[in-house]
Amino acid sequence: MEILITGGAGFIGSHLCDRFISKGHYVICMDNLLTGSLKNIAHLKKEKRFRFVNHDVTKYISVDGTVDAILHFASPASPIDYIKLPIQTLKVGSLGTHNALGLAVKKRARFLLASTSEVYGDPLVHPQKESYWGNVNPIGPRGVYDEAKRFAEAITMAYHRVHKIDTKIVRIFNTFGERMRLDDGRVVPNFILQALRGKSLTVYGNGRQTRSFCYVSDLVSGIVKLLNSSLNEPVNIGNPKEYSILQFARMILKLTNSKSRLVFEKLPVDDPKVRQPNIARAKKFLKWSPEIPVEKGLERTIKWFKKKA
Ligand code: UDP
Repeated sequence: MEILITGGAGFIGSHLCDRFISKGHYVICMDNLLTGSLKNIAHLKKEKRFRFVNHDVTKYISVDGTVDAILHFASPASPIDYIKLPIQTLKVGSLGTHNALGLAVKKRARFLLASTSEVYGDPLVHPQKESYWGNVNPIGPRGVYDEAKRFAEAITMAYHRVHKIDTKIVRIFNTFGERMRLDDGRVVPNFILQALRGKSLTVYGNGRQTRSFCYVSDLVSGIVKLLNSSLNEPVNIGNPKEYSILQFARMILKLTNSKSRLVFEKLPVDDPKVRQPNIARAKKFLKWSPEIPVEKGLERTIKWFKKKA
């Protein structure tokens, strides 16, 4: 297959490039490098089936030749990024998704949208299943990401219904692994780097809020299965093992053998109090569930961060 990956130079996008190249496909990696980096794809430069195109997908997307599948992953995705880049985030989720869908119609390509657990906002249903509509503050700082992705889901379903293209929506829960940006402000790089540097781990709020963390290779396997399935409804992909942020901080201290302390800082506005995916749909229709235990994924990630710290 000839596969276009928007946001292909990002953390998850670059792992998708690797996976499709390793399976013998042709990959066009499109990115404007706003939050992605050429370092993430440097190892693919000499690969004949790989091509990088520097393009902002909020502008018309033109690709020569056939395209069999489009995976639309372009977007800032960490809270500090999208809060710093609110308009770009809204534009890539709306205009960027519209352009990517237009290309899918033209090429009669399959289309997969990277959506997010943020569509559930600060959820009132726990764990979150796909049938839950969410509790999102549209005008809060996170609204720029949450509403952009909710619009992206709506326009994807509209293109599916009107233009009859084969669309898929993956709702990605917290994912971690090699190539996360060191300074993306998320809890995984923050805690690992703080622990490795002997600095205090910054726990926001009282640390009782929860998250569920999935190792990147598991996420990529789920996405590939979804792309090859006949499902058009959204699917949660994530690891259902839930931790409070306090438990997670202690686990990082243990795995890094660090004597760092914890400091408590202000909880960001609208920070969801709980988050855990219900993955019954992925299990039933994709025969997918995560295989890498969180500790094992973290060990690999810590090893990678050690080289960068
Ligand atoms: N968090 C924290 N300390 C940090 C960074 C994040 O306690 O240095 C908390 C944050 O408040 C949230 C959770 O960790 O409750 C996950 O935050 P992250 O930014 O990784 O992503 P989110 O799940 O909020 O999108």
